[in-house]
Amino acid sequence: METTLPFTRPSLDEETIQAVTEVLCSGWITSGPQVLAFEDALSTYLGGNRMVRALNSGTSALELALSLCRIGPGDEVIMPAISFACTANVVLRAGARPVFVDVDLISRNLKLDQVATVVTKRTRAIMPVHFAGLPVDMDALYSLAEHYHIRVIEDAAHAMGSGWGGRKIGGTGDLVCFSFHPNKNITTIEGGALSVSDPDLVPEIEKLRFHGISRDAKGSVDVVVVGGKLNLSDVSACIGLHQLRRLDEFVARRAELARQYFKLLGDCSKLILPACGDEGHSWNMFTVLIPFGDLGAERYTFQQAMAARGISTGVHYPSIPGFSLYQTLGYRETEFPNAQRIGRETVTLPLFPAMTNADVKRVCSVLIEVLDTRS
Ligand SMILES: *Cc1c(COP(=O)(O)O)cnc(C)c1O
Repeated sequence: METTLPFTRPSLDEETIQAVTEVLCSGWITSGPQVLAFEDALSTYLGGNRMVRALNSGTSALELALSLCRIGPGDEVIMPAISFACTANVVLRAGARPVFVDVDLISRNLKLDQVATVVTKRTRAIMPVHFAGLPVDMDALYSLAEHYHIRVIEDAAHAMGSGWGGRKIGGTGDLVCFSFHPNKNITTIEGGALSVSDPDLVPEIEKLRFHGISRDAKGSVDVVVVGGKLNLSDVSACIGLHQLRRLDEFVARRAELARQYFKLLGDCSKLILPACGDEGHSWNMFTVLIPFGDLGAERYTFQQAMAARGISTGVHYPSIPGFSLYQTLGYRETEFPNAQRIGRETVTLPLFPAMTNADVKRVCSVLIEVLDTRS
């Protein structure tokens, strides 16, 4: 019996483990020189003209971005109806209101051409998600933002290593938020980063990141704003530094695995495959839609059948307006038909850099076998 293939798995090499050991033995393990080096390396990777600050999660990056935009009660933020719950939760936690837009069935990205229909006087920002690492149309996004005078907070949690028009995601734009959770393209165990273009924002980011504390030239401490505790440890930053060196290799491998999936699943009429994405897609996930309703099957049973044959799968994501909290707040999932359908039919197939082409073959033959036995 072959071992179970997970749907995601971080690639951490011996060199990283050795470097982490050195940091652990160095006497300084929380934010310090490794964080500074990681922030420099991130800025360089993104093209060299960005201010990047490391944080303890992608969620923290989104929350900090909302604070920088002074978004709070009475404000509205436009976002896709399909994302990780976090994207909308942070807006609620800021006291503002998420305003959902449906997503495209194939790209899973928000329909930018519907944004105009939901803009109001209270709209303060748009929060696109580059789903699975496929960038939204950046030209259309930023012309909308300019037209309506609203901020852009990019949820680029899936999109480290993605690009648009020859520039990296996070190398341009307003406020760009990354996550380094173990399921993302690079990891720091838990962690994230905020990339901004304006150097004047940095002192405020640093204060909000650490208790609102600022120091004068003599080192005396003052507190000027209500900051939080969002800093990254040096142990995590050290992992991130080593991960970043391999990011392009990881992305190339992910893209090759995705090509294998398209080759082997292209003829399977029971599936809706994701957008192929050309250049610039970093392939954080490979998600297919399976019409469980039409097949008279349940997603849960399907996933159990896959698991019984050694293949783990995931669900990314149920639609946000369908969650109980959002129903209670008056949102209706039926207003977002594509998101509702994706939420019910999506299955995430295994995709991570250490997978082999033979693993993809195995996933596809098990998938086709399971689908055939259930229809
Ligand atoms: C992972 C993720 C986040 C949150 O990142 P954390 O580092 O886990 O806080 C936000 N948005 C999306 C789309 C994500 O996938």
